[in-house]
Amino acid sequence: MSLLVVGSVAFDAIETPFGKTDKIVGGAATYIGFSASYFHKPINLVAVVGGDFPEKDITLLKKHGVNTEGLQIKKDEKTFFWSGKYHNDMNSRDTLVTELNVLGDFDPIIPEAYQNTEYLMLGNLSPQVQRSVIERLKNRPKLIVMDTMNFWMEIALEELKKTIAMVDVLSINDEEARQLSGEYSLVKAAKKILAMGPKYLIVKKGEHGALLFNHEQVFFAPALPLEDVFDPTGAGDTFAGGFIGYIAQTRDISFANMKRAIIHGSAMASFCVEKFGTERLLNLTPDQIEDRVQDFVELVQFEIPLR
Ligand code: AMP
Repeated sequence: MSLLVVGSVAFDAIETPFGKTDKIVGGAATYIGFSASYFHKPINLVAVVGGDFPEKDITLLKKHGVNTEGLQIKKDEKTFFWSGKYHNDMNSRDTLVTELNVLGDFDPIIPEAYQNTEYLMLGNLSPQVQRSVIERLKNRPKLIVMDTMNFWMEIALEELKKTIAMVDVLSINDEEARQLSGEYSLVKAAKKILAMGPKYLIVKKGEHGALLFNHEQVFFAPALPLEDVFDPTGAGDTFAGGFIGYIAQTRDISFANMKRAIIHGSAMASFCVEKFGTERLLNLTPDQIEDRVQDFVELVQFEIPLR
């Protein structure tokens, strides 16, 4: 039983209507790793950072069950840096800065101990790198889940399409689904994207929940209405971490179990947005997570007597 996570490990600078951070630790694989760690251990990480990345944050990942044997440290280079600013409604944001730094020429080396992985989570990263990870695994994992973003659609669309064709589940937000498909209707967008190769498509809609499509069925999970949303950064990755972590824990890749995985992913994302950066993901308890999942069940449970 094993889970391999690939993605950015980063410094982020975030601005929301509630405040601003200097460089804090973020990155897709960081959020995925912390989130998935509540369901499955170890998490085998493949990523790259520069010599400026704090040792204490690597220790923190390890403490959460993240195996950092596949984390490359390029001593003389700088860690990937991303900066974003949220609009007042917190549902949309502008990317202010993307400095690829070490990610620019990242060659993902897979340690021998990571081979034969059952579950592969390709977090946000260049599609070429994501694809080379699939190609370097001697056996195809049971399930490959991929996340990506508009940035790659704009600068590497053909590469992205080649990678999308190789995965089982693609996870993107509604804006990205529209951009990738050229369709406004998410149902039409899903049809076009599924025709590109993946068996399942997850469309994340921020505070409006998430949709799971396959060729025949569709499932909707709401987002929990929260009193305070401080920082949505990493919510999508935290969602993905909860999703793949739950699948790895339950070892069931049926559509029915993916629905449960989506609820667990949504529950984890609801924690993530309550504080800046990864802070809220660091000290959760199984009871807190179970209570949150129960909140979701209650939120959508209703009975209608049908004739
Ligand atoms: P999310 O809010 O879930 O879309 O993810 C935000 C995280 O994605 C931040 O922690 C960033 O460091 C990371 N990120 C932003 N842009 C990129 C990119 N082009 N490649 C890889 N990771 C990125």
